[in-house]
Amino acid sequence: MVMENETKNFIEQIIDKDLAEGVYDHVQTRFPPEPNGYLHIGHAKSILLNYGLAQKYQGKFNMRFDDTNPTKEKSEFVESIKEDVAWLGADWEDRLFFASDYFETMYECAVLLIKKGKAFVCDLTAEQIREYRGTLTEPGKNSPYRDRSIEENLELFENMKKGLYKDGEKVLRAKIDMASPNINMRDPVIYRVAHMSHHNTGDAWCIYPMYDFAHPIEDAVEHVTHSVCTLEFEDHRPLYNWVVQECEFDHPPKQIEFAKLYLKNVVTGKRYIKKLVEDGIVDGWDDPRLVSISGLRRRGYTPESIRMFVEMAGVSKSNSTCEMPMLEYCIREDLKMKRPRMMAVLHPLKLVIDNYPEDQVEYMEVQNNQENPDLGVRKVPFCKELYIEQEDFMEVPVKKYFRLYPGNEVRLMNGYFVTCTDIVKDEDGNVIEVHCTYDPETRSGNGFTGRKVKGTIHWVSARHAVKAEVRLYENIVDEERGVYNDEDGSLNLNPNSLVVLKECYLEPNLAEAAAPESFQFVRNGYFCVDSKDSSPKHLVFNRIVSLKSSFKIEQK
Ligand code: ATP
Ligand code: MG
Repeated sequence: MVMENETKNFIEQIIDKDLAEGVYDHVQTRFPPEPNGYLHIGHAKSILLNYGLAQKYQGKFNMRFDDTNPTKEKSEFVESIKEDVAWLGADWEDRLFFASDYFETMYECAVLLIKKGKAFVCDLTAEQIREYRGTLTEPGKNSPYRDRSIEENLELFENMKKGLYKDGEKVLRAKIDMASPNINMRDPVIYRVAHMSHHNTGDAWCIYPMYDFAHPIEDAVEHVTHSVCTLEFEDHRPLYNWVVQECEFDHPPKQIEFAKLYLKNVVTGKRYIKKLVEDGIVDGWDDPRLVSISGLRRRGYTPESIRMFVEMAGVSKSNSTCEMPMLEYCIREDLKMKRPRMMAVLHPLKLVIDNYPEDQVEYMEVQNNQENPDLGVRKVPFCKELYIEQEDFMEVPVKKYFRLYPGNEVRLMNGYFVTCTDIVKDEDGNVIEVHCTYDPETRSGNGFTGRKVKGTIHWVSARHAVKAEVRLYENIVDEERGVYNDEDGSLNLNPNSLVVLKECYLEPNLAEAAAPESFQFVRNGYFCVDSKDSSPKHLVFNRIVSLKSSFKIEQK
């Protein structure tokens, strides 16, 4: 279990101080995704962090789409992001905002900057602007257009807005300091011309604000107090502060950076996930092998497990990497007590009990979860012909093999002891049927205290079982070779990342299972009904995670 950590993280310490000093009288956070892809596990950290802070300080949490760049944004992404954030439990109530709704305000802020002599229209090309910018070791050069009069700038900016210029012909730049050691402060571009339709504002605008200008305004307009973002924006903070100050916002927001969540050997970045989707390597953004939120959901992860993971990962200012086994640990922990433990055979082998009456069926009463009696009991049919796992039988047993082999006796879980008496092979010599006899005295739950057996195996009744497809997953990349190919930067794909088992047999209690239900299949792991492909006629299950863990939680 995760211990409640009494010490506050560095962001909470900043907030405490701000509240104590009266810098702010409330706490307001936001999650500001750009709708240019689906969310992933890294975003979950940002969502739960921002939402959690608002909760903790009885503040407000805004859901805001940072949709100021029409080139890559789509409504499909807006819808998926809303679904994912809601699913994670971050409730924005009626506080759903779109940065594009503030285009007018941003425009007015730009005009204000021009009037204050703090912004100018520049005719340099993108390439020239880059050349003039200088480097980390050399200062930049002033643009020859830097000293245009306020009147001229106002007129040219108005013309930009009216659509008199082609894309890239003119930009509006903040007038700050071309010699600043921080390159972000060297007269950054704040508006550009782009003749493009926007998913929200259509053709109303042909000038669009740049991120570094738009973002602080969005925060300020919404009265955000603590604008939490990731470390790569640290160098942008002086510009953030410059914008909110020069645009004269009261109680301006404060930017705080934290370290991104990285998962070792896992494809996390939106850009990389997008490429896997576009190249058809995965079955869409919600492929269960992806750590997109929708992929994790389809894989059977719960919001609780993701919350536990994010809490264990913690909030810090220095980059660190988490391991996938930690996430797997969290879903096992979450499902352990909550889900019934069912019997399902993934690689079937027929087992025939020769001395069991042909037409007899017994209904074995089985506890749904041995560790949680609250989940109740169910009945599982038992009869003469069963399926067991192929790996639970060996014709010639290896050392320490305690399961079924000729002459050996094992326990059928929730059933009887059986002893293997004979086998049937096909023409190729494969064992296709195992014969045994059972001892009627040994029925499970009947208080049999006679001899002991070392092996217990699970089974399903051949006559009653329901057939299902089961999908087993591994990492989409080959961990041995690392995520990226050294030569060309492509992904090192794992050819076994998806294994489809077409003929699995499940106990009949699973016949009506439907997404998002999930179960433990005893000895095989946790499985969920696939939300996309499963139907009552053709059940499809995804393995969420196996039962064995390679992750050790450090106990204090
Ligand atoms: P990616 O890095 O995958 O392309 P992004 O940063 O471009 O993602 P945005 O939509 O801009 O995606 O991000 C929305 C919010 O989520 C931002 O505040 C961003 O800092 C945060 N975020 C993105 N990736 C991570 C991560 N790996 N860990 C924590 N927060 C993240
Ligand atoms: Mg981004």
